[in-house]
Amino acid sequence: MRSVKMNELAWTSIEEVAGQEVHTVIIPIGATEQHGPHLPVGTDSMIGEEISTRVANRLGDTLVAPPIQVGCSPSHSDYPGTISISSDVLKGLIDDYLDSLDGHGFQFAVLLPSHGGNFPPVETAAAELAPKYSELSLIPIVDLNRFTELINQGLEEAGLEYQEPVIHGGGTETAMMMAIEPSRVRNSELRPGNEGLKSRSAVLNLGFQSVTDAGVLGDPTVATPEIGEHIITSLVDGYTAMIEHERTRLRNW
Ligand SMILES: [Zn+2]
Repeated sequence: MRSVKMNELAWTSIEEVAGQEVHTVIIPIGATEQHGPHLPVGTDSMIGEEISTRVANRLGDTLVAPPIQVGCSPSHSDYPGTISISSDVLKGLIDDYLDSLDGHGFQFAVLLPSHGGNFPPVETAAAELAPKYSELSLIPIVDLNRFTELINQGLEEAGLEYQEPVIHGGGTETAMMMAIEPSRVRNSELRPGNEGLKSRSAVLNLGFQSVTDAGVLGDPTVATPEIGEHIITSLVDGYTAMIEHERTRLRNW
């Protein structure tokens, strides 16, 4: 079977399918930021690429662009290894991706952020950029409440009563990483973090360290690979349906 990852294809293979059997390209928008002592700084990027790849395989007519691996993570900048870019730079990157791909045969470009801090800047960028491309229609997946809902549905389907009001390095992301990249989870470092953010202003003004020293919200000790599979499946089901719905709306306009 052909790979859905654009990076793994020759330009001739892309030319052959784009506009024929492939109509959509997904751009995963991740982050490089601390996720506690037990998860790698690339956690959001790895999760976003995995979800995008599974959604593309499910849709069958979709490719995945090389992920944007950095995002807006200013409140984590005190933690070594966090790399944060401004919302202007993120918008510029998205614009250059879309400018490059516009005219290559794709009809739809899905913007798929997997880091909470990227949802608002991606939404703003999409609203400003959407009118400018000649062939591409944008489908931004930027409903943070829906993202949280789908995650909590996955936890429920896994039989857990556990939920996370704010997701960062706790049971949810740890479980997903156990399912995707188990060798990247340091099991000896799993320790419960604080529950929830308590003060958004404190995070904004003083950084993430002011609410959690280790950089963890929620309880990573509840995580298992099976729970991770349930959460990923819920996100993939939900996102596939959303993209199909939006494409139908755009096609029938
Ligand atoms: Zn994350």
